[in-house]
Amino acid sequence: MLDINLITLSFQDPRLERHYRNSYSRRYRFQSLLAMEVALVLFGLFAVLDWLLYPQLVEQLWGIRFGFALPALLIIFILLLGRVYFRYGQQLMVASLIVSNVAVVAMTVVIPAHLNDVYVAGLMLVALYGYTVARLRFVWATAGNWFGVIAYNLANIWWGDASHWDLVAGNFFCISTNVMGMVASYSMEYDSRRGFLLQQQLRRERSQLNLVNRRLEKQVLTDELTDLANRRSFFERFHEEWRRVRRERQYLALVMIDIDHFKEFNDAFGHQAGDECLKQVAAVFQEHARRAGDVPARLGGEEFVLLLPETSPVAACEKAEAVRKSVARMEIHAPQQGLLEGRHISISCGIAAVVPDQESSPDDLLAQADKALYQAKEQGRNRVVCCVPGSVVEDCSAKAGEGG
Ligand code: GH3
Ligand code: MG
Ligand code: MG
Repeated sequence: MLDINLITLSFQDPRLERHYRNSYSRRYRFQSLLAMEVALVLFGLFAVLDWLLYPQLVEQLWGIRFGFALPALLIIFILLLGRVYFRYGQQLMVASLIVSNVAVVAMTVVIPAHLNDVYVAGLMLVALYGYTVARLRFVWATAGNWFGVIAYNLANIWWGDASHWDLVAGNFFCISTNVMGMVASYSMEYDSRRGFLLQQQLRRERSQLNLVNRRLEKQVLTDELTDLANRRSFFERFHEEWRRVRRERQYLALVMIDIDHFKEFNDAFGHQAGDECLKQVAAVFQEHARRAGDVPARLGGEEFVLLLPETSPVAACEKAEAVRKSVARMEIHAPQQGLLEGRHISISCGIAAVVPDQESSPDDLLAQADKALYQAKEQGRNRVVCCVPGSVVEDCSAKAGEGG
């Protein structure tokens, strides 16, 4: 059951009603204009019938048709073509209905009683236009058409020569058409409102679904603890960038990063403090990955990687050195006893960089970076080692005079 006023069919919520009316205007603009065009043409064509039925009165009938109805309908139609349609479309359409009714009623008065039925049929045509084809809303269509019925009765009682029985017969047809028209119009609008609500609901659900999808997508590609790209996301980006730089004949550099003696840190301070430390270190990596293609990622545990497209081995060494120094500067304290006693948390970095070609593969690059990292650990940790092509391993930190 819709939350509507059962007589006017308006939604109880005024905002929803406004929204509905706007969407109704947009949706039925074409049909309303088309209905008016058809009405204009038919109104003109029926002039032939005036002439055939009663040539003696054709001047009066055509006077009503071409002197009043058609110009008025044309003005309304022209107004409807403009922006005014969106504000006063329904009012203008109902005006066209009233003009048509007035014209046909005037003809029923002018024409002799024995031809009245033909013009009463005209009133029924106008009702069909008002209730269905013109896409007026129920209240407007009802008002405009009952105006026609009342005008028909009053005009014929005051000015017409139709007998009471002619009027009774005319009313039978007019009123029945109006009752049926009201049922049709009511049910059309009811269904249209229900459809509108369903569409709204669908739209809401779709946007919620999109939101959930985006969140899920992010979850699938992001490491929960550090908010960096996760392993899956890293490998996707790694292969993408590999293909791209191969096309562009540029360097692709990888920095493998591992926190030194992290097990000890965990054992001394607990897993939670360990996680906190991972977050802080990850934030440093994020900070250093400034260019659009740079991808800092957590491969798992306390192992990270920094993907640097279009970066030479020398530039990658400088970047890794900067990262290493930043981590050291954070002064995350190591345990009081053990290997790290009296020192701060540090990282070791292994670098490999290559201009990809048909012979090289991403796995090779990863293996080289891994090898360089192993060397960095071997040489005493807290340093950056670069694996240059030809398997020569260089200690970048030593070069920079910062190693150990
Ligand atoms: P190395 O300098 O040789 O790298 O020594 P390490 O102790 O860091 O190396 P190892 O790989 O032996 O230990 C890794 C430790 O990292 C083991 C575990 O305690 C810790 N770890 C791995 N994943 C997580 C995590 O998600 N959270 C926390 N808090 N600790 C983790
Ligand atoms: Mg480690
Ligand atoms: Mg490790």
